[in-house]
Amino acid sequence: MTGLSMGEEGTHPTFLFRGGEVLGPAGLEKTDLLVAQGVIAAIGEAIEAPSGTKLVDASGHVVLPGLVDIHCHTRQPGFEESETLESASRAAALGGYTAIVAMPNTEPAIDSVPMVSYIRDLAKSALCEVFPAGAITVGRKGEKLAPIAEMFGAGVRLFTDDGAGVQDPLLARRAMEYMAALGATYAEHCEDERLANRGVMNEGAVSSELGVPGIPPASEEVMAARDLILARLTGVKLHLLHISTAQTLSMVETAKKAGLDVTCEVTPHHLMLTDSNLRAFDSVFKVNPPLREQADVDSLVQACFEGTVDAIATDHAPHSLHSKETTLDAAPFGMIGLQTAFGVASKVLGSGNSSLLVRLLSTGPAKIAGIERHHGGALHVGRTANLCVVDPNLEWNVLPEEVASKSKNTPFGGIGLEGKVVHTFLRGEPTVLFGEAQR
Ligand SMILES: [Zn+2]
Repeated sequence: MTGLSMGEEGTHPTFLFRGGEVLGPAGLEKTDLLVAQGVIAAIGEAIEAPSGTKLVDASGHVVLPGLVDIHCHTRQPGFEESETLESASRAAALGGYTAIVAMPNTEPAIDSVPMVSYIRDLAKSALCEVFPAGAITVGRKGEKLAPIAEMFGAGVRLFTDDGAGVQDPLLARRAMEYMAALGATYAEHCEDERLANRGVMNEGAVSSELGVPGIPPASEEVMAARDLILARLTGVKLHLLHISTAQTLSMVETAKKAGLDVTCEVTPHHLMLTDSNLRAFDSVFKVNPPLREQADVDSLVQACFEGTVDAIATDHAPHSLHSKETTLDAAPFGMIGLQTAFGVASKVLGSGNSSLLVRLLSTGPAKIAGIERHHGGALHVGRTANLCVVDPNLEWNVLPEEVASKSKNTPFGGIGLEGKVVHTFLRGEPTVLFGEAQR
């Protein structure tokens, strides 16, 4: 869909991964895997490799489907000093991603077919596939509906005003009615702005102690409740972005049990960090929705195991150093996350848990984005070779000089991560080899 160049027939390099574990339909199996002509050409022992095949020792490594990020702020156009599609895609590839969904809160916003085409053109040289999400309302202003049917006709499957929720319930209802008729997914940034009341961090014991204005969990929960009720009314496919509280989770669980077509995502940072991280007033931990309390973190982690959570999404939000280097009040919300997502998820959920990690970081998000034909799922012969190879037990620290993003606002510096991406392949071509981006 991005028009990414495949190269001429026969020009694809051939790679044989030897001695690794491969995530196939029956789970992990120690076997070899051959990539040729852009697809998985063979899986098994003693594969006959064509001449010129590059051998890659994968012993101790695990071969997985490429990761899929359904929530990524690529900042282009409008905020190129923070990130471009190219720099975001390089960070994505280093993080094991073969596909990302670009959020429409650019300047101008992705709220029309020409903007969708413009993003796809920009993404032609990217190191991963880029799927633009469309805005729900014109300019993401929350006033009138964007041309949703036209964008859907141009291939957009996910619509959101992310960065803000749709505040007007009638407009939200109308958007959902349109999208239900089309089969599009309505993705909400759940935040009632009146209740959020220009808060800076989670409202709770820590915000009181620090004297910092709080964002109550209710600002998320009220909009999530509204949307779940409207989804029942309209029959729309509803996706709740970056949910952060135990109460939102419990409402999603109830809605799923009632048969609603609802999915939700959590971010790596909400699975690992809490509002206590803000005690030093470091704006790198300022994010929206805010880091919550340990009880919320515990619920989100548990829901990853139990299946209520459908995807881990980065909400990768680059901000330049100078914009973040100010007071907690004045600093923008957001943190980067593409290169660290696998290491955080793997540390929190267990590095041996490849099937769960793939469900949350690849297969689940691919389904939500509507791109499961070429992304996610168990590896089998004939499938497009969108892959990542990970060292599941490697303990590592993210270093600023290794961050490929134009912005370095990672909250995970100094926090040991577990599990690291070694190689990434996009349609059979290496985008990352031995931890180095190939372009
Ligand atoms: Zn958001």
